[in-house]
Amino acid sequence: MPELPEVETVRRTLNQLIVGKTIDSVTVRLPRIIQRPDDIHAFALALAGHTVQSVERRGKFLRILLDGLVLVSHLRMEGRYGLYKQDEPVEKHTHVIFHFTDGTELRYKDVRQFGTMHLFAPGEEFTLPPLMKLGVEPLDEAFTPEVLRTAIGTRNTSVKAALLNQAYVVGIGNIYVDESLFRAGIHPEQVAKTLTEEQFVRLHRAIVDTLQESVAVGGSSIKSYVNGQGEMGMFQHQLKIYGRKGEPCVVCGSMIEKSVVGGRGTHYCRVCQPSDH
Ligand SMILES: [Zn+2]
Repeated sequence: MPELPEVETVRRTLNQLIVGKTIDSVTVRLPRIIQRPDDIHAFALALAGHTVQSVERRGKFLRILLDGLVLVSHLRMEGRYGLYKQDEPVEKHTHVIFHFTDGTELRYKDVRQFGTMHLFAPGEEFTLPPLMKLGVEPLDEAFTPEVLRTAIGTRNTSVKAALLNQAYVVGIGNIYVDESLFRAGIHPEQVAKTLTEEQFVRLHRAIVDTLQESVAVGGSSIKSYVNGQGEMGMFQHQLKIYGRKGEPCVVCGSMIEKSVVGGRGTHYCRVCQPSDH
């Protein structure tokens, strides 16, 4: 599932590819992707004639800003965007096509069909679902250890479950929570409200570093995309703990363990992330 770094990479790529392009028409091939407005014809009609001004992000949602409209898009499990020429064959699982006046097309593909699009007037998107109740942005400059502490420091759940809750902190899913807790040396089952000030400082640093490094890795995939690879979405990461059950810890050599925390498969090192707090 795309997490914040993947969505940030898609955002940056789209910013390079579609800003300044004007939508001529929109084809919706799978109506259920369009969550707002209810009527797909109203969706298509509203977008026609509008020009893309920038592509922003809130948590794992893309905010495509046009003149007088905001398109909020969530890729969910498998959603991908690609820019094509209009005469290129439309591939399977292409559900929404934005036809631009310059003869190119932004195509949205989604094998699992879980992705969503909502159309709003500018500013309105923050007052309604799905963006209205989202937590703090870990890549914002305003994100500090104190902000993190305010967000999760009173929670009576595991720190893992607290970090996964999008109402507290946005954009960090299962993979990056495991990676961040490993770097911070914090056991995933430690109750959030028992974290010390020093642990919040370490956790904050770990989250920011993990996300920024992953964004940097994603950035390197932009070039191959622009050169015609065709689509963007997930990419390979340098993961130190996630998915490495049974392998030696890169720090201490102990065997990496896996259990279920906060309802999710969780990887950790018993030595580097002691549970005696
Ligand atoms: Zn270790």
